[in-house]
Amino acid sequence: MVNEEEAVEPQTLQAIKVKHLKRAAWNTVVMGAAALLFFLWNLGSNGTQIVPFLLHFFLALVFNVGEYFSYRTARTRAVSAMAESARPREAGVQAAVAADPTGADLTFLHQTIDLATDAKNSGRHPFASTVVSADGTVIASAGNNSMPLEGGPTLHAVLSAAAEAARKVSAEELSTATFYTSAEPCVMCIGAVY
Ligand SMILES: [Zn+2]
Repeated sequence: MVNEEEAVEPQTLQAIKVKHLKRAAWNTVVMGAAALLFFLWNLGSNGTQIVPFLLHFFLALVFNVGEYFSYRTARTRAVSAMAESARPREAGVQAAVAADPTGADLTFLHQTIDLATDAKNSGRHPFASTVVSADGTVIASAGNNSMPLEGGPTLHAVLSAAAEAARKVSAEELSTATFYTSAEPCVMCIGAVY
């Protein structure tokens, strides 16, 4: 595990602190100026001058307490965003470990490997991919077809299956689907899947 505090660049936290301190100073100056105006405005009258004065003091306090909580939120967000970007690979590994393969997963993996064998037997590279919906229906599947002339260099199994699945079902349905591949996808394919 990456220590969240250590993953954060200190100058970013410093910038957040300075920004909120500036706002707090501004709140204080504006409310102070308003209090002074009320004081001068009431100078000639018999009205109580302490009430508007206290009101503005109270408002400045409320705004600055709000500013403090806004600062805490911004800081927490920056810490978790930076910690998150520092460990994408670790998160991926944890997700893979958490996703314990079920019997259905193994069946679809075997089907995908059979498809890869078919690709190999027809003179292609031995890769295949299958996209399965949450209810266990095969949405799309493809073997590698990256050899010209019949195929093309971008017709990798993962890219072909992803493109076919995207044509067939909605993004919502895809978000709960499972992608099975016979090997770890290449950079082009993983980009396409994203
Ligand atoms: Zn690929």
